[in-house]
Amino acid sequence: MEKRPFAELGLSPEILKAVEKMGFEEASPIQTAVIPVALTGKDVVGMSSTGSGKTAAFAIPALERVDPKLRAVQVLILCPTRELAVQVAEEVGKLSFFKRGIQAVPIYGGQSYDRQFRALAAGAQVVIGTPGRVMDHMDRGTLSLDQLRVVVLDETDRMLDMGFRDDIEHVLKNTPAQRQLLFFSATIPRGIQDLIGRYSRDPEWIKIESVAQNAPLVEQVYFEVDRRSKIEALTRLIDVHDFRYGIIFCSTKIMVDELDEHLHARGYATDRLHGDISQAQRERVMDKFRRRAFEFLVATDVAARGLDVDDLEVVFNFDLPNDAEDYTHRIGRTARAGKSGRAFTFVSGRELYKLQGMMQVARLKIRRESIPSLDQVEEARANVFFEKIRATLEAKQFFSHDRMIDRLLEQGYTSTDICSAMIHLLQGAPAAKPGGAPAKAIPAAQPPLRAADEADARPKRAYGGPRPHAADPEQKPASAAARPSHARVTPKRAPDPEPAPGGAPAAPAGDETEEQEAVRRSKYERAPRTGREPGMVTIFFNVGRKHLVTPADIVGKVAGVTRLPAEVVGAIDIHQRHTLVDVAEEHAPLIVKKMVGIRLKGEALAPALVGTETKL
Ligand code: ADP
Ligand code: MG
Repeated sequence: MEKRPFAELGLSPEILKAVEKMGFEEASPIQTAVIPVALTGKDVVGMSSTGSGKTAAFAIPALERVDPKLRAVQVLILCPTRELAVQVAEEVGKLSFFKRGIQAVPIYGGQSYDRQFRALAAGAQVVIGTPGRVMDHMDRGTLSLDQLRVVVLDETDRMLDMGFRDDIEHVLKNTPAQRQLLFFSATIPRGIQDLIGRYSRDPEWIKIESVAQNAPLVEQVYFEVDRRSKIEALTRLIDVHDFRYGIIFCSTKIMVDELDEHLHARGYATDRLHGDISQAQRERVMDKFRRRAFEFLVATDVAARGLDVDDLEVVFNFDLPNDAEDYTHRIGRTARAGKSGRAFTFVSGRELYKLQGMMQVARLKIRRESIPSLDQVEEARANVFFEKIRATLEAKQFFSHDRMIDRLLEQGYTSTDICSAMIHLLQGAPAAKPGGAPAKAIPAAQPPLRAADEADARPKRAYGGPRPHAADPEQKPASAAARPSHARVTPKRAPDPEPAPGGAPAAPAGDETEEQEAVRRSKYERAPRTGREPGMVTIFFNVGRKHLVTPADIVGKVAGVTRLPAEVVGAIDIHQRHTLVDVAEEHAPLIVKKMVGIRLKGEALAPALVGTETKL
């Protein structure tokens, strides 16, 4: 896999300065191979895996061919999605930073024509756009391709998958005969060969094999998991490895929704991406993910396509990808830029044969492992916690609490007892009520390991306690004890019968295996439900997991409809078909009255006050 310094590729000083400024030390293999050929004006078909640097491989030679004095479109780059168009435009902007007089403009659906028209009229030389919108501009006469020198098709395979074939052909037919054509794709299925044969002249085929390059960096493991135990397996793996940043791939939108919801309810900070999510929302999610405002992105292949993120710790194939190419695509998102990463794949039942087939075809090396046991999970979590405390002590990064400790010692408690009580609290266990029955009630004090928490820039998760909740991922890190009451969400770990308000419990929710239930009831539970706070009563709502309701939905709806502050809502317990919501007693009648008939997740709400005995 040859790499060369950019300086040996025959580039202008402006481009060399730009790549230097971007921090690229040397050209990647695809860049090394493509740039010199493309500079000669020859057509190129470039193939390499996601993350291998294809953008610069076509953008650099294309920019070198632009005449800055000619105020007309000279380079057209077609991308499948708006996100990709924006990303490519950003990279083009950086690469052309020192080239005076070159302007690039992204053109995509959803943005006003007016703005795009003005940029085009101002003489932009490089246009980056989605095929549909580019075609629109051509038809309106606002985009002229007479002076075009280079056409790039980026992610051609995906554009064809997305049904852009006719649009692409329409655009290509209206370009000058002498233009250079650069095709880029991670894969070249037959449909593309046809397109290449028809529109390019004697192209140079450049293929960079990626498997050998990726393999040593991505640790690839598969697990045989019963379909219904997948979520449990996933959370155990996350906990054992203490992962904080990754993508979880599912095969369907429904699975994405469900899994996101489950993880969310278990206290992981997650968000989701799939085709049914609006463009604006998708961008928000991607942006948040890049900023690490949440831990795990649950996504389908198409939705996560082109999402440029570095430093993923892990990629989970929660559902097996369709083929080896999709697999390589997915795992290419971890271990980028020479960093190591992990790819964990679940197979259930006969999928094992499919995976073995993929391994053979693509010469993948994927090791088999078994899902960690509960004891291993527990031990790993204890180790993480132990290390945190040790590191904090070592670094002396904590405030001194001598006074409080002295007071406790004076009362006759040993230092071991005091520390144990603190750890108990940090594990997310409830503080005993002052004046309550237990002999050794310790009042909840300032969170003692605050400094340790602050030293750790990652999203916070107390050992054994609930994770920071995805509903408020950007909230300032705070220990579980310091969180506002409406943000405290009880994960759905309590036994889960289906009580009607005041009625007899119905059969248990049927979406759980015995093993999962056993696990749920075990010590693995992050934060068992322990009853209401004083002054709170419980309201039954007839929406639940089945309706994909989230704690944020509930709080938002209640606050929005009643105009009461969100703080009146306490613990929220989401069950399969209903949700139990603790609210301040004084406001309960008003909330019940106002919420009747309000629509949430497509259901007309029928709230009811619940007696204490119904509450679990
Ligand atoms: P692809 O289109 O092949 O999936 P990209 O062009 O999006 O890959 O590049 C992936 C990442 O690698 C980007 O963040 C890009 O800035 C970076 N990159 C590209 N070329 C180099 C290089 N020569 N050295 C270091 N990083 C690079
Ligand atoms: Mg790309």
